[in-house]
Amino acid sequence: MIIEPRTRGFICLTSHPTGCEQNVKNQIEYVKSKGEIEGAKKVLVIGSSTGFGLASRITSAFGSDAATIGVFFDKPSTEGRPGSPGYYNTAAFEKEAHKAGLYAKSINGDAFSNEIKQQVVDLIKKDLGQVDLVIYSLASPVRTHPDSGKRFKSVLKPIGEVFTNKTVDFHTGNVSEISINPAEGEDIENTVTVMGGEDWKMWMDALKAENLLSEGATTVAYSYIGPDVTKPVYRNGTIGAAKDHLEATAFEITDELKSIGGKAYVSVNKALVTQASSAIPVIPLYISLLYKVMKEKGIHEGCIEQIQRLYSERLYTGEEIPLDEKGRIRIDDWEMYEDVQEEVMELWKTATTENLSEIGDLEGYSNDFYNLFGFKVPGVDYDKDVNEMVAMPSEK
Ligand code: NAD
Repeated sequence: MIIEPRTRGFICLTSHPTGCEQNVKNQIEYVKSKGEIEGAKKVLVIGSSTGFGLASRITSAFGSDAATIGVFFDKPSTEGRPGSPGYYNTAAFEKEAHKAGLYAKSINGDAFSNEIKQQVVDLIKKDLGQVDLVIYSLASPVRTHPDSGKRFKSVLKPIGEVFTNKTVDFHTGNVSEISINPAEGEDIENTVTVMGGEDWKMWMDALKAENLLSEGATTVAYSYIGPDVTKPVYRNGTIGAAKDHLEATAFEITDELKSIGGKAYVSVNKALVTQASSAIPVIPLYISLLYKVMKEKGIHEGCIEQIQRLYSERLYTGEEIPLDEKGRIRIDDWEMYEDVQEEVMELWKTATTENLSEIGDLEGYSNDFYNLFGFKVPGVDYDKDVNEMVAMPSEK
């Protein structure tokens, strides 16, 4: 079939298998071009199909020849209906990993559930014995709690007062003012339940209880801080409360891993266009200005560049991992450079519908958004008939 993008707001309802495959291949080539990393050899990635999780899986496999198990939650393709991009990405990743002689198996299901944790436990026992790195990279708007069966929804709201600022509709370039009402009722607790550290800890507890973590095993989860302008809706908002909880959980997990000499880290990553970040108001405008400034300075990075640098210049240098005053790894350092932030804030003040395509990188934002779904990927012929039915290599 011919597959075209069908967007609705910040989501795209279709995705293109060849485009997704090409994206994965490009990321693999990037990692290979940067050379070998003395990293972990048996890696579990939770949230492995898109964004930072996919980049982590690719970096482990193609930077360190690691065996990888990926956990993700995506829609497989059915006759006449494309699957979700994470499904196609994972199929492409497995295909390339197998070609390179690397172990790669994936589990598609709800990572928050006991059933999926058990499936992963069984798979590690059967195939790998133990893992030495666990990447936790889930981004989800909902979580069904495994104990109570209750479904929690996260919200993206400020705390305490209404937040009013500029935002952009990245499809039209229309810059407008948006007001977001503050969290109410159980919004904060619910968001912490979905995006905080409880599930990360449950995963690590389950793995440790079954002796599936090797001596010195490491686990890394991803967080974000960002500039003052997004603080009310991000870091000081409901999602920030969840990130505070995630970051605090790293210390709890580290305590628990002491007996095996293991450690839990949070890495603060750069703002990037992913399915998770396009849903947050105000962030797309910030990202389009940030991209412009960072590209002009020659320091722009995507997920794969970020994670390749996280592995090669933070996690696996052979030296002690540098941490900030709160014990976090910072790979958002280039985003947070003073000159970058000053320039972005100057642009922010003047940004309007009329000048955004000039002063910001709206095109870059939009391209990255389409790329997430396998569209507008250079070298892909979108007029060519494509088979939407793609099998998962490890399921064959
Ligand atoms: P993403 O949407 O690209 O990826 C989310 C992944 O989680 C996908 O693989 C998806 O399949 C998986 N997933 C979601 N719900 C699941 C479930 N119930 N069970 C199993 N898998 C599930 O998101 P991302 O932007 O790469 O975010 C990953 C992490 O990085 C998040 O913690 C996010 O806060 C953090 N982060 C993102 C940014 C950014 O700008 N995008 C910046 C810094 C940190």
